[in-house]
Amino acid sequence: MSTIVILTTGGTIAMKRDEAAGGAVPTLHGSDFLAALPPGLPELRVEEYCNLPSAHFTLDILWGLRGRVSELLDKPEVDGVVVTHGTDVMEESAYLLDLTVPGDKPMVLTGAMRTASQIGYEGLANLTAAVRVAASPQTGGLGAVIVMNDEIHAARFVTKTHTQSVDTFKSLFFGPLGRVDGDRVIIGQRVTRQCIPCDSLEPNVALVKLAVGVDDGFLRYAVKKGARGVVIEALGGGRVPPWWMPAIREAIEAGVTVVIASRCPGGRVWDSYGYEGAYRDLGEAGALFADGLNGQKARLKLMVVLGATEDRSAIPRLWAQS
Ligand code: ASP
Repeated sequence: MSTIVILTTGGTIAMKRDEAAGGAVPTLHGSDFLAALPPGLPELRVEEYCNLPSAHFTLDILWGLRGRVSELLDKPEVDGVVVTHGTDVMEESAYLLDLTVPGDKPMVLTGAMRTASQIGYEGLANLTAAVRVAASPQTGGLGAVIVMNDEIHAARFVTKTHTQSVDTFKSLFFGPLGRVDGDRVIIGQRVTRQCIPCDSLEPNVALVKLAVGVDDGFLRYAVKKGARGVVIEALGGGRVPPWWMPAIREAIEAGVTVVIASRCPGGRVWDSYGYEGAYRDLGEAGALFADGLNGQKARLKLMVVLGATEDRSAIPRLWAQS
């Protein structure tokens, strides 16, 4: 019989309307979840890590969560961890766990889009499904996954796509790894991952988004403020306006790692154009590419890579590794 630890962090799954606050706030605790879960699940332990909306997460809270998950999974008596979490930055927490917590034991994140005061609160259904996934022998080695709305999504590919829908988490152009079908866990495709050993996150990494005709001011500002890395959510397959190239070259010459992601919700960064500011030009300038990671995950990965090494020459190899 498996033992699964439910590590609670807050989010809408833990929220109820509070008259004094004028809206829903995190109120439910692990013991409330345990009391409401159906019988027949594996042996469960609950632990509260924090009780916050995920918009209130700092990098220290995020890193501490990663540390606690890692400690729990190191215990021989723990078979898997389920993290209850706000949906807003859930994909980032999931991806950090995926990228940095070694081992094959399941790490499952779940939450809710509706509070426990609303009709149709789906938190307990999601939590039940997440526990089943964490206890399933098939989910070992998949890294971190998000389980919501009976779908199982790989941390690397999943993103929150809708502000209100319970069907918000999607792995665009890739699809879910599997489904929870009643009491059964069905895995249809598997992913492999490589962890980057890292003792801390480099906090000085900026994320800058491109739009038509935008100037390079935010990029220059980030470098002036001391960024060690900048992720640019570029256009299409990885393109910036030509007037961004001088600032990108200057940043790279000053020792800042520049990563090009795409503002498109799907697809990797790559193109075959010969014009200024396109993929080849950016590569020749020394930029790295986010492959299929969205901007927020590329930022986290760069924080991990820059946290893992001080040696500039090691950065491209570490970046390419996972
Ligand atoms: N505001 C919530 C959060 O903590 C949203 C949610 O959990 O769905 O991210």
